[in-house]
Amino acid sequence: MRKAIIAGNWKMNKTHSEAVEFVSAIKNSIPASSEVETVVCAPALFLKEMNDASSGSDVNVGAQTMHFEDNGAFTGEISPAALADLNIPYVIIGHSERREMFNETNESVNQKLHAAFRHGITPIMCCGETLEERQSNETESVVREQIEKGLAGLSADQVKKTVVAYEPIWAIGTGKSSSAEDANETCGTVRSVIEELYDTDTAEAVRIQYGGSVKPENIDGYLKKEHIDGALVGGASLKTDAFVQLVEAGKHE
Ligand code: 13P
Repeated sequence: MRKAIIAGNWKMNKTHSEAVEFVSAIKNSIPASSEVETVVCAPALFLKEMNDASSGSDVNVGAQTMHFEDNGAFTGEISPAALADLNIPYVIIGHSERREMFNETNESVNQKLHAAFRHGITPIMCCGETLEERQSNETESVVREQIEKGLAGLSADQVKKTVVAYEPIWAIGTGKSSSAEDANETCGTVRSVIEELYDTDTAEAVRIQYGGSVKPENIDGYLKKEHIDGALVGGASLKTDAFVQLVEAGKHE
């Protein structure tokens, strides 16, 4: 039985004080981590204080990206060693916005996954197709390549700990969410690619989230599906009430 994982991705939103207020406001309303795992992925500037504010609660804090090198001449980048030093437990890797706007590739995503595991940080690895790819029936081949190249060289134990977020790009921030059936089908593809690459045990252990215009009104439909174990939520994760409702929904998965 896979435990549901509900993660917010704030993207480039909120100020430091708003971020800390958010954590303080929700931390007593979040279900225990034995029922559902809760993650808030915030801009790197706020991570330390958010981690401090959430200590003793079941809210986990995550980063939205990081570099694959521990240090060096990479102006403006975030070191995985620095995240680990702050005890940040999660990091989103290869979000489509990073792939599109910041030149991330399947190869750099793979290097980052290895870096995350070197530092004991759980990666949330994103995959998903564009609208053109979906319309030309390339969803399966695009996602297959992202999974094969993204996970290359990881051990089965590392893959079991990896969270995969399937986020069709056309559903992100558009209000046009995928149907639960279509999302489940592609999450099933992710699982079967992992089964081919590793084994049934590994494929059954890995948690797969759906992301793309998820909100309290539609999350149940996704979580009921066989291959969907949680959600990666952008816009709806910015409001405390909505975020708590999303996490509550994870309890019934
Ligand atoms: P929205 O929930 O705003 O569509 O964003 C999804 C997303 O990109 C989460 O990573």
